[in-house]
Amino acid sequence: MDKSTGRPTKKKVVAVVGGGLVGALNACFFAKRGFNVEVFESREDIRQAKVVKGRSINLALSHRGRQALKHVGLEEKIVSQGIPMHARMIHSPSGKQSPIPYGKKGQVIFAPSEAETYPNTKLNFEHKLHDWTAETGLMTFVRSDGSKEQIKADLIVGCDGAFSAIRKQFLRRSRFNYSQTYIPHGYMELTMPPINGQFAMKPNYLHIWPRNTFMMIALPNLDKTFTCTLFMPFEEFEKITTGDEVIEFFQKYFPDTIPLIGSDALRRDYFRLPAQAMVSVKCSPYHINDKCVLMGDAAHAVVPFYGQGMNAGFEDCIVFDEIMEQFNEDFSSVLPEYTRVRVPDDHAIADLAMYNYIEMRAHVNSKWFLFRKHVDNI
Ligand code: FAD
Repeated sequence: MDKSTGRPTKKKVVAVVGGGLVGALNACFFAKRGFNVEVFESREDIRQAKVVKGRSINLALSHRGRQALKHVGLEEKIVSQGIPMHARMIHSPSGKQSPIPYGKKGQVIFAPSEAETYPNTKLNFEHKLHDWTAETGLMTFVRSDGSKEQIKADLIVGCDGAFSAIRKQFLRRSRFNYSQTYIPHGYMELTMPPINGQFAMKPNYLHIWPRNTFMMIALPNLDKTFTCTLFMPFEEFEKITTGDEVIEFFQKYFPDTIPLIGSDALRRDYFRLPAQAMVSVKCSPYHINDKCVLMGDAAHAVVPFYGQGMNAGFEDCIVFDEIMEQFNEDFSSVLPEYTRVRVPDDHAIADLAMYNYIEMRAHVNSKWFLFRKHVDNI
């Protein structure tokens, strides 16, 4: 018997591949149902890492996402750690700031550690899925020392993001529909440090610098920094090749941010990581027999101009859980039903996100500052 849920512990093994936002939440849902859950994440455990490599993006948590968190008792915990956004703050090229009232916005701090509170869940970091077989459920993982480990599961849940290794097996199968589209814009993150231990700008705002074909936004973090995200066509990013050119560019378009980010930091950080691509992925079906199912970005990566990528992924978890209840946890009925119910909704979100992007490009002057207008719904 599982003490936390009062349900009997089942013998079935559910392997969640990918310990990102959706994988971590999914692990909670399956653990709550008493399955033996194993999470496999290619990265190291960031709670123990001395240096955390890569990027961190702030995310708007909407009603969809909150409902899913509520189901596993995490809504309050996560939302209380978020920073509410009351308005957008539009920065003009001259540095003038104008607030536009807004909904609420939050930062999601959700790690696999939440899943670890269930005794029937095991987290396996530094386990990169190399290959797997749909017929048997046998997966091969490569560990950080190069060694391989083979593990079998009754159900494999692919939550390994936009470039999913799980999805590769789907692509080899007949009647699997798949499309991906890269947009011409990329994004780059820059950090605005605190000043005398305080936020460098007003914290309860989504700061926006709309500039025709490109824009920058800034969101507050709990450590009093702001993450500034610059969205711009790749060809524009590539035109800037020296530190002086970075300063010249910022002087022209975002002069008020230079003293706040710091000119040395700007010269350095602009070249720290290349601009990141944004891809939209649509596929169908989301399952293979009773063995494997895709969720989150692995099933439907969307461009971030509708702010619903993570929220849609969280909603996948709750929809799946409801179908599990409805079909008595019989995977052979649950998986096809999940595809039937979920594919049209996820495709609609992907289309809306792309539509918003195209709209913004078409009406550059008027629309960029409405970026992420979806957040009004929160
Ligand atoms: P990921 O977060 O990508 O996690 C996948 C995990 O799988 C990773 O931890 C990865 O290391 C692991 N993995 C990958 N390959 C393997 C492998 N072979 N073996 C084992 N593990 C593997 N969404 C919102 O709802 N609101 C927003 O405001 C918002 N803003 C965004 C802004 C930007 C700039 C971007 C790029 C995205 C934004 N999104 C937003 C989308 C959101 O970030 C994603 O939808 C969400 O992170 C998807 O979660 P996921 O768990 O499915 O995938």
